[in-house]
Amino acid sequence: MDVKTEQEFKNKVCIITGGAGSIGCATALKVFNAGGKVALIDHNLEQLEKVKNEFYDRDRLLILQADVSNSQDTQNYVSQTIAKWGKINALFSNAGFSGTSAPVTDYPEDVFDKVMAINVRGSFLACKYALPKINNGGNILITSSIMGVTARPGSIAYITSKHALIGLMRGISKEAAPRNVRVNILAPGPVDNTFQLEIEERASKASGTNVTEMLNNWIALGRHATPEEIANMAYFLMSDKSSFSTGGVFMADGGMHV
Ligand code: NAD
Repeated sequence: MDVKTEQEFKNKVCIITGGAGSIGCATALKVFNAGGKVALIDHNLEQLEKVKNEFYDRDRLLILQADVSNSQDTQNYVSQTIAKWGKINALFSNAGFSGTSAPVTDYPEDVFDKVMAINVRGSFLACKYALPKINNGGNILITSSIMGVTARPGSIAYITSKHALIGLMRGISKEAAPRNVRVNILAPGPVDNTFQLEIEERASKASGTNVTEMLNNWIALGRHATPEEIANMAYFLMSDKSSFSTGGVFMADGGMHV
């Protein structure tokens, strides 16, 4: 990594939700290694404690347990970040929950509500409370999915929630633009990680087909992404390198949606 890249996030404060998870943590490490200060938010405290060892300078790291669907928790992680560093430059609203695999007619109402609460309400609350504190020229990135622009049977709550995030992003991008705060969507395709593997195992069982193989056939590049590849895109969208991009849906899906 050259010196210029190392300094790209120097003095920048970033909040990353789902920070104990695969994409969130990989992105946090990139931002951190580029000089950034990172508030890692997750409801899984045990996993947060595990990943914190990967961050060598604890002064530039804040670990906070929070349920992103909870208003008080959200206000708390925003105010604690401000209390520690006095500002926010970027918010990566990335925590997510996939729900279950069932046709709409069998889809459990409580699971639908939970998916919407974590994925949609979670990002709504993050934007509602963080936006007023984000410096002019800062940005918000929200993780949607290939399922935010396409659909397949059996994942109605996840599909609905990931489509909704694009509407949320578009509305907020117009409200935030006068302060030069950019708001974008990151839309990954299938990633080679536990989150996706569990979905594929469920779907394979339900459909009697090997869904991992099927997806690889649908992805133009013929394979799942690595978490690192998705984090590279998130890094770019959180950095000033994407300074003229707002209101955008950025695919990192190996051409799956085409
Ligand atoms: P992951 O499971 O490794 O990370 C998700 C994190 O969110 C976990 O650490 C989890 O503890 C956290 N989380 C869940 N509910 C929460 C809550 N209520 N409050 C706080 N934290 C909560 O999975 P990932 O692949 O890193 O997923 C990150 C994002 O990427 C999600 O929004 C997911 O929908 C999206 N996505 C993933 C894939 C994929 O193939 N893995 C593809 C497209 C989109």
